[in-house]
Amino acid sequence: MSPPVTRRFVRAYPPAAPEATEGAIWLPFRDGQLLVRDGDGGRVTLVRGDAASLGTELAPDEPLYLGTLDGAPCYAYELGAGASLALEGWREQGLRALYGRVDEAEYGLAGYASQLLYWRRSSRFCAICGQPTEPEEGTWGRRCANCGHVAYPHVTPAVLVLVTDEADRILLASKPGWGTRYSILAGFVEPGESLEECAAREVEEEVGVVIEDLRYAGSQPWPFPHQIMIGFTGRYARGELKLQESEIAHAAWFTRDALPELPPPLSLSRQMIDTWAGAGNSR
Ligand SMILES: [Zn+2]
Repeated sequence: MSPPVTRRFVRAYPPAAPEATEGAIWLPFRDGQLLVRDGDGGRVTLVRGDAASLGTELAPDEPLYLGTLDGAPCYAYELGAGASLALEGWREQGLRALYGRVDEAEYGLAGYASQLLYWRRSSRFCAICGQPTEPEEGTWGRRCANCGHVAYPHVTPAVLVLVTDEADRILLASKPGWGTRYSILAGFVEPGESLEECAAREVEEEVGVVIEDLRYAGSQPWPFPHQIMIGFTGRYARGELKLQESEIAHAAWFTRDALPELPPPLSLSRQMIDTWAGAGNSR
């Protein structure tokens, strides 16, 4: 078996720009959908080539230069609402549906592109005084020429907690509107709290259970639109299940052999559940 290929993404910040667009990777978005080309076996490929090869239909308007992937310059841009995309072999693909259809590095790149385009759309004016902003060199920040306020792309931390008990069961909850799907507990970090404090608070607020022995389990950028998910495992310490009805429709302890419908494989929550389930099955 050949070793897995590790692809290397090197970030760039304005006003950096490559000397040429030869072999470039283009990430054209329209209404939150990425334009890609159909490939074999359900896979898709990103738009590649120099700027001239894009033709008039895909001509980039104010592209954001993101950096290089294995040396290839990468650009994100938005297509106008009226652009004709009736191009043979091309399709518009939402980011969630893109998962598993390109490799991990390209998927991460598409998520990053989506977040920066969102940031550009939402940062043209100062949040303090409403005047136009200008780029701050060397970063993605935007500075207000009027009052000096500087803002940077939003990254919103949210914590995931996989809670197990002494009987080796996992605590899963279903939110209103989820139907039959369950996941581990999750919540946004509030100002002034640590990630561990957030994990403990969310579990206690949502299901009335006190946990202990919190351990970091990994993180995942989640570009919907700009979260970072931080996973922890924790053990049940005390308390009876008591649901916060506005947040949780149902919650229960599950064994490995009777798991309910779970989140899609894309998510860190699912990966953590699979790791827990696999660890039990290998014993
Ligand atoms: Zn201002």
